[in-house]
Amino acid sequence: MLTDYHVHLRPDDEGTAAADYFTPANAERFREAASERGIAELGVSEHVHRFAQSLDVWAHPWWRENARDDLDAYCAFVREETDLRLGIEADFVPGREDRMASLLEAREWDYILGSVHFLRDEAVDMRGDWDVWRSGDPDKVWRRYFETLGEAARSGMFDILAHPDLVKVWGADAPVPDGDLRRFYELAMDGIADSDVAVEVSTAGLRKPVGEVYPAAAFLEMCLEAGRPVALSSDAHVPEDIGHGYDEAVRWLADLGVTELAVFEARERRLEPISPSGSTGT
Ligand SMILES: [Zn+2]
Ligand SMILES: [Zn+2]
Repeated sequence: MLTDYHVHLRPDDEGTAAADYFTPANAERFREAASERGIAELGVSEHVHRFAQSLDVWAHPWWRENARDDLDAYCAFVREETDLRLGIEADFVPGREDRMASLLEAREWDYILGSVHFLRDEAVDMRGDWDVWRSGDPDKVWRRYFETLGEAARSGMFDILAHPDLVKVWGADAPVPDGDLRRFYELAMDGIADSDVAVEVSTAGLRKPVGEVYPAAAFLEMCLEAGRPVALSSDAHVPEDIGHGYDEAVRWLADLGVTELAVFEARERRLEPISPSGSTGT
């Protein structure tokens, strides 16, 4: 069994309309790409900040620019017009846990991805006005990132911790702390160990400046020691990226002794053996 749960039916570009992407024909393009690559378990997880309802949780100016779609229309579309699992990529916003929980608990998901994209008002993975790296001392940014990630796990709101070392996204294009990075990973580990969350292995990092799978092997080893299961995804925003880099990821998981993947339905998790089926994506 291979999975791809972290999938966006629409690109992140501004000026796109949900109506152009939340169509059965578009969902079918993703399903076909998954089938070609031997991925049986396919789900979508649109960004929470795309939905008007997210402004009840957090009114960050960048969210206000983006929050246009209707969350219930998205859920109804996925349930009624596709055969995809229904997920969402929700931010962990410290101090807004109750509001986010209200938004999430009012709908019936197959799984919820939890992401840390922001540290207070600043983004770790966006350039421009909200870029944390404009003023960021790398040690401070990495410390805050992994502390927040641990809190996200501990919150119990999420089934999967998405791209768990996203802070490395820029590679050499942003400052990176010196030395053994495990001192930062440790900051997240108590929260992760105390939680029931699955840890995402995401091939999206291969398409970013860092050019590596998320998370680093040392981070994943610590999660495995803490007994956490693995969820495999590509974070595709177009069908061509479904299962991107899975050959490499599956080999890497085997080297780390991971033989099973987390599979979700109605927020129940089970583990299935990884069985790459010949033609996986590159
Ligand atoms: Zn994300
Ligand atoms: Zn995503």
